Amino acid sequence: MVNWFKDYRQTSAYGMRKDPFTGVLRKHTGIDLVKTNNKNILAFVPGTVTFANFAQNGTGFGGFGNVVAIRDSRGALHCYCHLALIRVKTGQTIQAGEIIGVEGATGQATGSHLHYEIRLKSSPNFGLSSDTEPRAYLNKHFAAPSPPPSPPSPPSTVYRGISIVDYLKSIRVDSSFANRKKIAAANGIVNYTGTASQNTQLLRKLRGF
Ligand SMILES: [Zn+2]
Repeated sequence: MVNWFKDYRQTSAYGMRKDPFTGVLRKHTGIDLVKTNNKNILAFVPGTVTFANFAQNGTGFGGFGNVVAIRDSRGALHCYCHLALIRVKTGQTIQAGEIIGVEGATGQATGSHLHYEIRLKSSPNFGLSSDTEPRAYLNKHFAAPSPPPSPPSPPSTVYRGISIVDYLKSIRVDSSFANRKKIAAANGIVNYTGTASQNTQLLRKLRGF
């Protein structure tokens, strides 16, 4: 499972809570995160910037201070709120991991933190009230697929006009992978998998150059 917020300490979860300003029980529409190292905020997912400004009341982002909103490929809006600085412009295409701003306490905030909110709709009012639990959404739609298996290594590599397989054959030595692995180990090449660089290394050792 992807740890989306590994660079952060979560200070408030999504869901019902006592409003920090009024004390009234109210839904917290995002999660609050405090960056543990530098304060640059990086986009969690790619998309297009649809809002990058100080949020006035009535925009759908009122109270959130400096906001960057990025619409993802599914049409949902990722809102990065209370930023001290905004580093992107409306219309810009953003890759995951790109710096979009700096954590801050603009708007109604009790201290420096990122309010990260995901809205399933992006209009009207930038999808106000269509918020959803961020982790569940990210895990459902953006969890990285496991990397494809690496292709099998080539059996040999030509170095100075000869491959390790041909060289071993020429000196009448068993050139099977298992035997090459043994010869490699005897020559100090550990974890031989038949990569090009290992084959070259082995040839150099065996041929003395
Ligand atoms: Zn919040």
